[in-house]
Amino acid sequence: MATLIRGGTVVNADRAFRADVLCEGDKIVAVGPSLLAPAGAEVIDAGGQYVMPGGIDPHTHMNLPFMGTVTQDDFFTGTAAGLAGGNTTIIDFVIPNPQQPLLEAYHQWRGWAEKAAGDYTFHVAITWWSDKVHEEMGTLVRNHGVNSFKHFMAYKNAIMADDETLVKSFRRALELGAIPTVHAENGELVYQLQQDLLRQGITGPKAHPLSRPPAVEAEAANRAIAIANVLNTPLYIVHVSCKESLDAITRARAAGQRVYGEALAGHLIVDDSVYDHPDFDFAAGHVMSPPFRSREHQKALWQGLQGGNLHTTATDHCTFCAEQKAAGRNDFTKIPNGCGGVEDRMAVIWDEGVNSGKLTPSEFVRVTSANAAQIFNIYPRKGLIAAGSDADIVVWDPEGSRTISAKTQFAKGGFNVFEGRTVKGIPSTTVAAGKVVFHRGDLRAVEGAGRHVDRPAFAPVTAR
Ligand SMILES: [Zn+2]
Repeated sequence: MATLIRGGTVVNADRAFRADVLCEGDKIVAVGPSLLAPAGAEVIDAGGQYVMPGGIDPHTHMNLPFMGTVTQDDFFTGTAAGLAGGNTTIIDFVIPNPQQPLLEAYHQWRGWAEKAAGDYTFHVAITWWSDKVHEEMGTLVRNHGVNSFKHFMAYKNAIMADDETLVKSFRRALELGAIPTVHAENGELVYQLQQDLLRQGITGPKAHPLSRPPAVEAEAANRAIAIANVLNTPLYIVHVSCKESLDAITRARAAGQRVYGEALAGHLIVDDSVYDHPDFDFAAGHVMSPPFRSREHQKALWQGLQGGNLHTTATDHCTFCAEQKAAGRNDFTKIPNGCGGVEDRMAVIWDEGVNSGKLTPSEFVRVTSANAAQIFNIYPRKGLIAAGSDADIVVWDPEGSRTISAKTQFAKGGFNVFEGRTVKGIPSTTVAAGKVVFHRGDLRAVEGAGRHVDRPAFAPVTAR
């Protein structure tokens, strides 16, 4: 079955040009002017529209068991919502419990992901250390298509990685040709500040950002960067939310260190005034870590994206409904952390980034797919419109608009941090693995159609 996307402007990270795109099976087979449609091909008119690589969200949590409950979106509903938003690949997280064998957790997540409607691949979290963890990291890289390991520097008494684990795991990742990633927040400081606030009787969602100020994130970012520097490993910092962390990345990069930063669509658009809202459900709905920050930090994040010191945009899609969030009604530390966004990331970043002139369409592709594909070693299979690449494509209507609302979204959870925002520039058609899976509001996601994407190890580092 062939699909021809005709008459649009192809946008890759390096250039934009007028061309038709022909897909056969799950691959793009030709990109060029005036391509002929083979007999029986589905033809999509992309006149006046952009034809871009499908989005890659490098940070999602579908079907995540967390803080005593499980997220609303599973791998089917979460990836389907992504397809509706022009996002064709997610990188999710296998998060073993401390003491749980890595491979056991990995197979658990692979099982949950079988129902995915779009392609997926996994970072694996290192939440504890032993010789067995050391050995299983090798098995994951060699045999299971994993090339990135995640470390939570927060969540004390749960999944927090101490310095010993960070050092040993970073070193092992380097040896294997994998990239270490961190959630940078000092978990000990967060824990102590939480206890202080509870003792003072400050128990509502307003206390959430007070327990995780920018300095707490900056300490961890600087520490992770210092460890990576000593061990000479690359480093990817997830959800950079504040100027201080960005400054740490900028300094490290200026000194020649290979450090990458990820910004969340939420942190780029939503500010911390949401926690002052008198309605518990509204404020708690915005509880995620790191928290939303003031506008000065948002401005810095945009500058980081524009200046090339932040590389990818993600969502940390992790949906909990109001009933689940209510577990923390009398104690903000018990509010399940997480917000959605996989359906809206591309549109809000286009609206705020491209419409305002902060990003060109090519720069938009760079931060929504190409960089993630390169950093996590699935380029040019993903993140590029070219013959031989996967037929994961979003046809983007720059004149279309949509008002975002939890009432009309495909994602579960009944909440949306971008509620009421009208965006100009929306996906009109999404093609995943060569099939039209979304067209003008009609979602045709198929349970189980998504595939696991193996990510090969990076070439061994040779001494210079
Ligand atoms: Zn996360």
